Amino acid sequence: MRLWRRIWGWVSRRLAPGYSRCRRCGVSWRFTESHTTMYDNSNGILALCERCWWETDPEERLAAYKAVWIEWYERGYPAGIPWEVIRAAVLHEQAPLAVFDAQVARRIVEQDEGKWSGWYCSGDGGTIILMPALPQPVRDAWEEAIVGGLDVEGDLG
Ligand SMILES: [Zn+2]
Repeated sequence: MRLWRRIWGWVSRRLAPGYSRCRRCGVSWRFTESHTTMYDNSNGILALCERCWWETDPEERLAAYKAVWIEWYERGYPAGIPWEVIRAAVLHEQAPLAVFDAQVARRIVEQDEGKWSGWYCSGDGGTIILMPALPQPVRDAWEEAIVGGLDVEGDLG
């Protein structure tokens, strides 16, 4: 990553006290778009900005997510989210898909039923964004954690 971005990260945090930040470039959420990684059907975790998310591969992202997850544990909320669930969400996350034709969008959703959770029209009106469904490995990790008794503390090591 270029030095100027790290410097901007440092400056941006001083300009926006109280905001959290990207764990890679350090830029405050006040000044950059955060990337949401869903870990269940309605909740997500923010560890990277959109740009850093696109610039990294899943393995590279893990450290940033682990740092946020440890913070959650230390402050006590959101509570009871096993690291293995977050890990699965990071490793198997699928990017949204932009489609420019409603017919094509419908065909994609019909073909890969279960792969998409929904869709919305982007601001310019001409683009349909398909949102990926919660990946199967994340559902499996939840099931395993719940069967195993949600040992969140065991993940800290
Ligand atoms: Zn970033």
